[in-house]
Amino acid sequence: MIVGDLKPLDEIVSAVKNYKQVLVLGCGSCVTVCLSGGEKEAEQLSRELSQIRNYPGTPPKFVVGSILRQCERDLVHDYQKIPPGTDAVLSLACGAGVQTLADEFEPLPVIPALNTTFLGASDKPGSWTEKCKGCGNCILIHTGGICPVARCAKSLFNGPCGGSKGGYCEVGQGTPCAWTQIVARLKKMDRLHCYEELQSLKDWRPGGASGVRKRIRAGLGEGSGSNQSKDS
Ligand code: SF4
Ligand code: SF4
Repeated sequence: MIVGDLKPLDEIVSAVKNYKQVLVLGCGSCVTVCLSGGEKEAEQLSRELSQIRNYPGTPPKFVVGSILRQCERDLVHDYQKIPPGTDAVLSLACGAGVQTLADEFEPLPVIPALNTTFLGASDKPGSWTEKCKGCGNCILIHTGGICPVARCAKSLFNGPCGGSKGGYCEVGQGTPCAWTQIVARLKKMDRLHCYEELQSLKDWRPGGASGVRKRIRAGLGEGSGSNQSKDS
């Protein structure tokens, strides 16, 4: 899922303070699951933002709403509940959701309330860890299901750097060394031969280095005959 964190309140206040009525819009998908941007969080944020002490003058009026997935243009298009008098939208979605709203609600300003942080998973209740950087050419088959792109601080492809000590990464903060984890996993799987196979230099073009990426699904999107992602 996509993980995001609420921006500091003073940053949001400063972005909304000059509007008269702001629609605070939660998103019902990833950011609901990671407890940062669902309808409940939109209500809570709206209550905090309404506190008069946050403003030198009159605070804007805040109205709360929610869309199941702000990153789906059809769902955003069908959202008919923008109250009259709304002069800005505060989105609690990830960056993809904010941009979809901005496209669909143009020329209404759409303000991000979250910092979108990473593609991750919940390893235990209330804790999410980055797992993938969407590099466009997954090599988890060679690395025991542990991603060296996202989980190694240097995104190394052929084993640990000299900073790996006692199973921990030199970046500190108790961060496990991804390559120590990969080797341990491969040993358990009896697949250490994968570690010995040299990975060639990574082509970062499928990872976004050649421009905005797009996926076209045969029969559903523009064109047909392929359901593979392609760069545009
Ligand atoms: S190798 Fe690439 S696609 Fe696979 S998990 Fe890592 S970043 Fe994601
Ligand atoms: S110590 Fe391990 S995780 Fe950290 S940068 Fe080096 S190889 Fe990557």
